[in-house]
Amino acid sequence: MNFITKLFQKQKIDCPRCLGKGNVDWEDIRRLRKELRWAPGQCAYCNGTGKVSPGTVSALNVDNTYLTVDLPPEERKRLLDGDKGAIQRANQYETQVDDFIKQIDYLHFVGGLDSGKIAEFYFLPESESGKSQTEKQELIEYIEKVIVNRNKGR
Ligand SMILES: [Zn+2]
Repeated sequence: MNFITKLFQKQKIDCPRCLGKGNVDWEDIRRLRKELRWAPGQCAYCNGTGKVSPGTVSALNVDNTYLTVDLPPEERKRLLDGDKGAIQRANQYETQVDDFIKQIDYLHFVGGLDSGKIAEFYFLPESESGKSQTEKQELIEYIEKVIVNRNKGR
């Protein structure tokens, strides 16, 4: 390997997800249209460093929903390495979230249920599994976000 190749391999660019800050804020989330999918926090794309190699950017879309800090480090690595299983899990996750949002849309706009009723609908089969009130409240807030987003004509 010659000097030039080495130089290019070391060259890192500002992370396109967090714009080099190392943290994703609401502004980044809005820019990438992930309001219903992410919360602010450490950037999973650059792992909080603010820099990525150009190879990362060509390997994985910056707005990949699945790649968040909730992923275990091994799974993050598999995803960035283009592992088929990890990519499949990422696609499945994306579909699951999309379906969930569609269900909420349907229950509210077609079924006429409010956020509290929709949350009950999801909590019903698990009422004995001891899910906390906090979790239910979080779900209600999420449902309200989905509804508001739809009203804005997303
Ligand atoms: Zn970043």
